[in-house]
Amino acid sequence: STHHATTTHPAPPSLAPRLPDVVRPDPVPLVTGRFVEYAQLDHAASTPALESVVRAVATATRTYSSVHRGTGWLSRVTSAHYEAAREEVARFVGARADDVVVFTRATTDATNLLARALPAGTPVVVFAAEHHASLLPWPAERTHRLPVPSSPEEVLGRLESALVALAGGPAPLVVVTGASNVTGELWPVERVARVARRHGARVLLDAAQLVAHRRVDLAALDVDWVAFSGHKLHAPFGTGALVGRRDWLDAADPYLAGGGASAAVTEAVTTWATGAARHEGGSPNVLGAVALAAACAAVRRHRGAIEAHEAHLTTRLLEGLRAVPGVRTHSTFGDDHDRVPVVAFTVEGLDSHLVAAALSAEHGIGVRAGKFCAHPLVDALLARDGDGRHSTAVRASAGLATTGEHVDRLVAAVADLAAHGP
Ligand code: PLP
Repeated sequence: STHHATTTHPAPPSLAPRLPDVVRPDPVPLVTGRFVEYAQLDHAASTPALESVVRAVATATRTYSSVHRGTGWLSRVTSAHYEAAREEVARFVGARADDVVVFTRATTDATNLLARALPAGTPVVVFAAEHHASLLPWPAERTHRLPVPSSPEEVLGRLESALVALAGGPAPLVVVTGASNVTGELWPVERVARVARRHGARVLLDAAQLVAHRRVDLAALDVDWVAFSGHKLHAPFGTGALVGRRDWLDAADPYLAGGGASAAVTEAVTTWATGAARHEGGSPNVLGAVALAAACAAVRRHRGAIEAHEAHLTTRLLEGLRAVPGVRTHSTFGDDHDRVPVVAFTVEGLDSHLVAAALSAEHGIGVRAGKFCAHPLVDALLARDGDGRHSTAVRASAGLATTGEHVDRLVAAVADLAAHGP
């Protein structure tokens, strides 16, 4: 179980003045054969590992043994590391004393786990602006999909109406993103939770794009669950968590039936475990959990420095791109809305995939083009902005491994492409 009341573990102030060390790749080749420093502008897809995460995994890899089953010394050490990782994740998201931390493979795994635990008849309210991982796991016949909004007020208004219409039925689940993976914009999570609460609804926060950039506090936000991925938080693939209320999870069938999920088994009866174990059937990804916790701890301690670094990059990125003739940035709530350093843009007359390919081949810049697993949102933004000739956008997403030079190189390269073509 996860007991971590703030009274026993006061959160240390995040005063570390510098950024945590991130793994820097070797220089990458251009089409010309020249090698350049990689410009890391694809953090929204996956983030490079922290040096402290690499060290934590290396150390744990040298000593691990079975978890929760063995009585040997190493087995006990490994079990202790696994549970300590759970405590760190709980602290990282500001979990309440009775919340449960279930380790998952990523955000998609976490949202699907909660979808399996929905009590019968639960309606789900979700905006079409969500990433597919938060849009699609719910039973179609009970999902109320609200259109892409154009202001935070519209989010609250539409949510209010949807919940009023569902009054009298089973308590709904509201699914909301913390930061958009397309535009980087912050959603009004705290106000969404307040509206939901007034109507007796529960809230799942998709924090996949938020946790690396801003602090998440379950208790302060008053949301019921949060889901996030390690590979977007400088930890390896195959790690993530669902953190929050235990009642729905304890009442649900185990996510994976098997050892660990079962407390007692006879020929006639299986008694399932409760808490995290119920949904962590099989031998768990202990090294992944250790890595995830190391990333959580580092980001938590360096939060202030990370936010300062990224506020600077966000402004530089947005102002730089917006000043380029022929470039249009796309926003859900408006150009001035607060955001993490993620920008979706299109270049007049140029296919977005071609732009992304040219940025990589000619400038050593890593970005992504497409619809970013948020097809309804990208379609709506392009239609709204009268950008009918584009069906996809380019996304530049900065973070810990991005430097000011990377952003300047991107802006100069996009300006060159916009003026002269690829
Ligand atoms: N939610 C958001 C907002 C995302 O950006 C992503 C990943 O792109 C996901 C969910 C899914 O995360 P994962 O692919 O790690 O399961």
